[in-house]
Amino acid sequence: MSPLQPIRGTADLIGEDSRRHRHVIDTARAVAATYGCDEWSTPIFEATAVFARTLGETSDVVTKEMYSFQDRGGESLTLRPEGTAGVCRALVSNGLTQTLPQKIFYAGPMFRYERPQKGRYRQFHQIGLELIGPSEPLADAEAIACGWDILRALGIAGDTVLELNTLGDHESRTEYRAALVDYFTARRAALSEDSQTRLERNPLRILDSKDPGDRRLIAEAPTIGTYLTEAARGFYEGVKRALDRFGVPYRENPLIVRGLDYYSHTAFEFVTDRLGAQGTVLAGGRYDGLVAEMGGPPTPAIGWAAGIERLAMLLDTAPPAPAPVAVIPIGAAEDAALDVLQALRRAGIRAEMAYRGNLRRRMERANKIGARAAVLLGEDDLAAGVAQVKDLASGAQAAVPLAELPARLR
Ligand code: ATP
Ligand code: MG
Repeated sequence: MSPLQPIRGTADLIGEDSRRHRHVIDTARAVAATYGCDEWSTPIFEATAVFARTLGETSDVVTKEMYSFQDRGGESLTLRPEGTAGVCRALVSNGLTQTLPQKIFYAGPMFRYERPQKGRYRQFHQIGLELIGPSEPLADAEAIACGWDILRALGIAGDTVLELNTLGDHESRTEYRAALVDYFTARRAALSEDSQTRLERNPLRILDSKDPGDRRLIAEAPTIGTYLTEAARGFYEGVKRALDRFGVPYRENPLIVRGLDYYSHTAFEFVTDRLGAQGTVLAGGRYDGLVAEMGGPPTPAIGWAAGIERLAMLLDTAPPAPAPVAVIPIGAAEDAALDVLQALRRAGIRAEMAYRGNLRRRMERANKIGARAAVLLGEDDLAAGVAQVKDLASGAQAAVPLAELPARLR
């Protein structure tokens, strides 16, 4: 029988990969907390309608990428392709729509049936932020600033550029949409098949197409700027003013539209040229219509999500494997060694003891696991209430009273 293989587009997170991944989440969680965010965890699977109804019937995610299945009860379920819909569903389900604002951080796996390649997987992981409730442009700027601060804390902000756009309000978008329909209808034959469908169902989505032929037409297409109402323009100016004040650099790009249907006003992406075609590391926007789609009251909101794998790939170095302390009994010192082992662990020190072996074997083992120090417990030393602590980098050795071991090894 051949050994079982992981599913294409999934990966095991082990060793350095796991440490990179964890470092991204821990860093992001800590920064998001400074912005007042609490962490939410919503289920990995939801009723299919949670996504189908909200992400937009014509979005790539809904038309081609969802992992949907019937469970044994005959209900249609979907493995979450993104985090925002579940968070908004949870807001409504938990009756929190009157307890606003809610500032939310999340991290976890997402699932999309895509063609796997570098930076693009079928199970991938996102961190994300949602500010639900505020309608002010300052919230948009804060959400973006938090993303920027996370990239800074990870040491990768300099590898990215923030591309900023506005999709305007409903009125701006209706006008703009009509202009796009005119433009693309006149060039219909040159559009990709997907974009011809988008032209009928959601012309804005064409701007997000990755087809090279489409991209050429898009470069010449009308941009939102001239169609913005005064209110929408004022909102956008407010976002930019606050970003300037926060010291977040950006580049305006009228072609940034988000792939999902629920966005309005601010749309943004942090992009990098270090990851080839998969250059978007963190992306988001304002989604004032989504909570209502979920059955709640009209509720403004702004948020973003970032791919953990893409962020982890940008880290120059992986966080080092933590070096343990090796506890080594000599002769009849096993019981005392167990006491020392647990005392060290309870003091927060990574401590290990080989399950068996003589002094030489245990020292070999200590070196093999990269221990930074060995605590040698001989019968005579124990009788005197001390242990020999050997620094495995320098080789220096000193007798240390047992009670002082945690403090000395921390
Ligand atoms: P793309 O244009 O790369 O397909 P998207 O617009 O579908 O991205 P979003 O839905 O905005 O992506 O998700 C936010 C972020 O999640 C992306 O910017 C990216 O970093 C990450 N991401 C999305 N899909 C994948 C995937 N299949 N594998 C790895 N990371 C992903
Ligand atoms: Mg995609």
